[in-house]
Amino acid sequence: MSIQSNLNTIKATLPEHVTLVAVSKTKPVSDLMQAYEAGQRIFGENKIQEMTEKWEQMPKDIQWHMIGHVQSNKVKFMAPYVTLIHGVDSLKLLQEINKQALKNNRTIDCLLQIYIAEEESKFGLDENELNELLTSAEFKELKNIRILGLMGMATFTEDQNQIKKEFTHLKSIFDSIQKSQDIKDFTIISMGMSGDYQLAIECGSTMVRIGSSIFGGR
Ligand SMILES: *Cc1c(COP(=O)(O)O)cnc(C)c1O
Repeated sequence: MSIQSNLNTIKATLPEHVTLVAVSKTKPVSDLMQAYEAGQRIFGENKIQEMTEKWEQMPKDIQWHMIGHVQSNKVKFMAPYVTLIHGVDSLKLLQEINKQALKNNRTIDCLLQIYIAEEESKFGLDENELNELLTSAEFKELKNIRILGLMGMATFTEDQNQIKKEFTHLKSIFDSIQKSQDIKDFTIISMGMSGDYQLAIECGSTMVRIGSSIFGGR
């Protein structure tokens, strides 16, 4: 199957309110260009250096999403161009993003990553930490970032009930934040990858991050 036909097949199944992030990590620019030529404009990468190299080489109407874990000292490399940072999981990182956004005279959109899986290895905040962050005085000072929603990754398992439970948990945290906090433009729930995006959409996802089903295995 070609990248173009994979992309078209997936897009045909997505409801209109769900945004597709084409996860192109480790793939060459020539593969990304095939997706671009098929109309895809949102790409997700998990390494800042790799994303920046691709940004330099590719058309400038592409929206670049950072979906991986972000180290504070590397934020400056993507600050001039990144569209959305999915994996923000600390106030310290938000402060650095705000600082670099200010330097570039722009506002940078972020999602806060929530820990929903049962695996030790996944990053993210729990619900208490999230509430603490959003109500802190330090957070309210940050004028060059916007929090557009939440992101989460389910446990890597075949157990659909487990995955469903985790996605539903993220959706319920999102709903309670939307109700209790006055955050403008808080609309995105980024959850779902190649193996579980249909389930994620059933559970309320508004943004899916799909790699291998578009570009093939890595
Ligand atoms: C790699 C990656 C994806 C895409 O995974 P696929 O299974 O290839 O669709 C989605 N989200 C994150 C955070 C990733 O690192």
